Amino acid sequence: MNPPTGRGTAVSISSLVTAAACPLRLWYAKSGGSPPPGRYAVCRQLSEHLGSGVSRETVWEEICAIHPDISPEFYGFLDACIGSCRNNSSWIPPDETDVPVKSEKFGIYGIVDKLYRDEPFFSIVRPSQAPAAGLYHSDRLRITAYTFCLQELFGEHITGGLVEYIPDGIVRQCIPQPIDRRRFIRALHSAKKVMDGTIPAKPSRAPCTWCRFSDRCVPGGTRLSDLL
Ligand code: SF4
Repeated sequence: MNPPTGRGTAVSISSLVTAAACPLRLWYAKSGGSPPPGRYAVCRQLSEHLGSGVSRETVWEEICAIHPDISPEFYGFLDACIGSCRNNSSWIPPDETDVPVKSEKFGIYGIVDKLYRDEPFFSIVRPSQAPAAGLYHSDRLRITAYTFCLQELFGEHITGGLVEYIPDGIVRQCIPQPIDRRRFIRALHSAKKVMDGTIPAKPSRAPCTWCRFSDRCVPGGTRLSDLL
């Protein structure tokens, strides 16, 4: 499936989520390459088998086949995730996985991890622990974006989806609300500006220790040489 072309630059849902957190990070990521495979690679492949009783060795072999450069240290993480996911007996086998979706209306595209014919309609896999209650803003944004795409493809009856917090074996439902749709539109504008070539201002909090671009994001004005 080709990205939508109806409303200017097409934006991936992952770019939109990055822009919502920090537009400058999206600017760096545009030229920064992909991070090495890690927690998401493990969680995504484990999620594929939840509820089917496949052995951890088989899941690990599949992860290594898909990501030959994954570090062996993630085997322990897989083991811990399997332990958490065993405590949940409500995993539903999907009807389809890795489904490309898009919205011509908003000019966004992405890949839905799991699709179901009926409720809960779809789910996304997250490699983070679940928040104490509810969902992270970034995950509500993901669900809002995928809901827009699926509504355009299948109809307005798609009201939301699930978030699988694999390290905790917890699944939470998200039905987007007006505030989520407002945040979505704000993030979309922000991401489109960056994709169209506008260099974002450096946030006053920079650099952030957890960000993979923190060494390039030093205090002071944003110079072009910092960004290239
Ligand atoms: S270090 Fe912080 S401010 Fe700089 S790009 Fe990363 S998230 Fe943004």
